[in-house]
Amino acid sequence: MTVARTNWARNVAFSAERFHRPESVDELRQIVGSGRSIRALGTGHSFNTIADTEGDLVSVAGLPPVIDIDERTATVTVSAGLRFGEVTAAVDRAGFAFHNLGSLPHISIAGACATGTHGSGVTNGCIATAVRSLELVSADGTLTSISRGDTGFAGSVVALGALGVVTRLTLDLVPAFGLRQWVYENLPAALLRESFEEVLAAAYSVSLFTDWRDDRINQVWLKSTGAETAPTTWLGATLADGPRHPVPGLEPEPCTDQLGVVGPWHARLPHFRPDFTPSSGDELQSEYFVHRSDTVAAFDALDAVRERISPALQISEIRTVARDDLWLSPAFERDCVAFHFTWHPEPTAVREAVRAVEAALEPFGARPHWGKVHSTEPAAIRALYPRFGAFEELMATSDPAGKFRNGYVDRLFGTR
Ligand SMILES: Cc1cc2nc3c(=O)[nH]c(=O)nc-3n(C[C@H](O)[C@H](O)[C@H](O)COP(=O)(O)OP(=O)(O)OC[C@H]3O[C@@H](n4cnc5c(N)ncnc54)[C@H](O)[C@@H]3O)c2cc1C
Repeated sequence: MTVARTNWARNVAFSAERFHRPESVDELRQIVGSGRSIRALGTGHSFNTIADTEGDLVSVAGLPPVIDIDERTATVTVSAGLRFGEVTAAVDRAGFAFHNLGSLPHISIAGACATGTHGSGVTNGCIATAVRSLELVSADGTLTSISRGDTGFAGSVVALGALGVVTRLTLDLVPAFGLRQWVYENLPAALLRESFEEVLAAAYSVSLFTDWRDDRINQVWLKSTGAETAPTTWLGATLADGPRHPVPGLEPEPCTDQLGVVGPWHARLPHFRPDFTPSSGDELQSEYFVHRSDTVAAFDALDAVRERISPALQISEIRTVARDDLWLSPAFERDCVAFHFTWHPEPTAVREAVRAVEAALEPFGARPHWGKVHSTEPAAIRALYPRFGAFEELMATSDPAGKFRNGYVDRLFGTR
């Protein structure tokens, strides 16, 4: 099987001189040990050049699949290239669950953790917070591992691919749980402003979808562990009378079951089913994380520039992420609200809209999603991450020759 020459969104053509798909860890070690410039590739679902390189691009998708569940420690050890959709059913069958999942099961576990990928929920940390240990091929080709509690671990999970090629991860599990998904439509923005905290905490996982076109939230998705029934109206919003797709005008078939039908966590936490194209499939994305205490002010700041956002927009999503201690996690030491934007795939219009979003959110110290389109200046990003310097030191120690750096990393940290 060959390695894709572009990312999923096709807005980045990889500039690698060589593409590799090793089928064993030894083969991977040989490639890394002998190469000069290496980048790991997951499933390529990032929207910027974070996974690109001019040297050797190494897909981990061909590594022998491992799904090793340890009931005693409530953990699963997985090979890095597996997609969530290839792992979750086995985890569920063993009576366990991941505490959080992104909107789609198509992404690789290593790639998701490397960028701080998250779902929603006021008490749910990003997916990487479940990582208990990881095994990676370092710059000299040796296989090393690092575990929670080890020096440098907090910098090694959301690591942007800059510390080595992860081959395996061990993640904490929670007991399996069921969820019901309810969708409400047309939540008046004025009522939302009054009850933002209540709305965001109304279920295990809550997503608000808005097109920023008028004074309402188009849809509220509640992923709930609670009751079998839901009121037909709630805070001025109306319970949907059929399944919905979050992007206006699209058919709901690719979406996970709604209408309160109970299902396992892995069939409700993602918005999209594994066997369909997720989201609209023809798009770019951006996302910004601000302190949860700034939710209403940040919402109002975006609302004030909605004419500059909405022409480029398919749909926007508002979610929450619980604070963590991972140095480069966008939720590092912050309970966050995340403002996400699914754009039309029109780079010029997106650039303009992204500028408007970034200017509006600048007073709130918004951290951009590492894997999505953004233009936040590196100096601003550095100032937003208290352990940025510590990560820099970790990179310098573990990879003195800069083998795992690429243009994206150099832009952030400066060329050496
Ligand atoms: C339709 C769609 C929906 C999305 N929904 C969400 C969402 O709900 N929440 C969210 O937070 N994000 C979301 N994203 C963004 C996505 O989760 C991230 O871009 C994520 O990094 C993608 O994982 P990947 O395997 O494709 O990583 P890639 O894009 O392949 O790589 C991303 C980074 O991970 C590194 N990496 C990958 N594998 C390894 C490895 N084995 N070792 C070391 N480094 C590695 C790469 O070097 C790169 O730096 C979405 C993206 C799409 C396309």
